[in-house]
Amino acid sequence: MQPELADIFACPVDNAPLTLAVEQAADDGEVIAGTLACGSCGAAYPIRGGIPNLLPPGYPS
Ligand SMILES: [Zn+2]
Repeated sequence: MQPELADIFACPVDNAPLTLAVEQAADDGEVIAGTLACGSCGAAYPIRGGIPNLLPPGYPS
């Protein structure tokens, strides 16, 4: 995902802004792996393979 998208995404639980923590990025800046963390409820949403998983915690997968 493009890091700018972190400004668009919101926590699905409480709609609060998410903070992006990059673990791995491509040469063009695309985030390959990392975490989107909610500063309000503390939920963390993983980014794996460039795809953010914004399902609420505990959501049956
Ligand atoms: Zn939240």
